[in-house]
Amino acid sequence: MRTLLAVTLAVAACGEPGDATPDGGRPDAPPGCTRPDLGDGVQAYLTDVIARIPAPRATTAQRLGARTFLADELAALGWQPQTQPFANGANVFATIPATMPAAIGEGKQVIVGAHFDTVAGSPGANDNASGTAVVLAVARYLRDTPCRTAPVVVAFFDLEEAGLFGSRAFAQSLSPADVRAVHTIDQVAWDEDGDRRFELEQPTPALEAEWRAAAAVVGAPLTTVSTGGTDHESFRDRGFAAVGLTEEFVGGDTSPLRHLPGDTPQSIAPFAAYTALAAKLAGQVILDEVSP
Ligand SMILES: [Zn+2]
Repeated sequence: MRTLLAVTLAVAACGEPGDATPDGGRPDAPPGCTRPDLGDGVQAYLTDVIARIPAPRATTAQRLGARTFLADELAALGWQPQTQPFANGANVFATIPATMPAAIGEGKQVIVGAHFDTVAGSPGANDNASGTAVVLAVARYLRDTPCRTAPVVVAFFDLEEAGLFGSRAFAQSLSPADVRAVHTIDQVAWDEDGDRRFELEQPTPALEAEWRAAAAVVGAPLTTVSTGGTDHESFRDRGFAAVGLTEEFVGGDTSPLRHLPGDTPQSIAPFAAYTALAAKLAGQVILDEVSP
């Protein structure tokens, strides 16, 4: 489900003295607070997840199979999968705990999520195995980030295509007062013009600044747009600071195969580096939020 209301608006191990710093540029990081190399193995990881996630993910049985897959992937990364049932579906999520205290006023949880369901008859590799895989990649980065000052909830939403049901149920289970930011990712696997550009959907000014800073680090051009109709809307409607990441949906460089049988892993394979860039970008944002 997507509506075009489209107006374009405007690391390795603990640090010993002398250790190489794979995440150079963070000279003030406390000792031991390394970050992973965001490029290390991520493209292969994403391609593997997109190839293995069951597809399509539309019927009750298909979505159950997808939830089992996602729970197994979270467990393989060392995180405890949980299920949130609601009236006609269920979300899968894990809360990745903080490992160190935050300064006063910080330490609120961060949410990063993607819908895993598809429309009937479409394998949904771009929409939205790509976003789902990026959220798993963030969970993988956090596994390799020892210093975390806030919990990160990685969430996989059911029944987005039918009307944002999963993300609405998830938003209802949380209080905006406890959440610093909600980031949702939907369709990040099409870049036919090769410009590496992403669209940032309805960010708050603070979140736009965070994403632009991260984009400068990883080398991803960004355009801010007013697109709604996907999961970030469910959170914004309830008062959360929320933002969505997507390919150039407004800009026109978006998959022509969306919701069709041709939305396969093979069709997005030429853009694997672009999806990896989405993971690096999202990873940079989340690590900047929770890791010193
Ligand atoms: Zn979608």
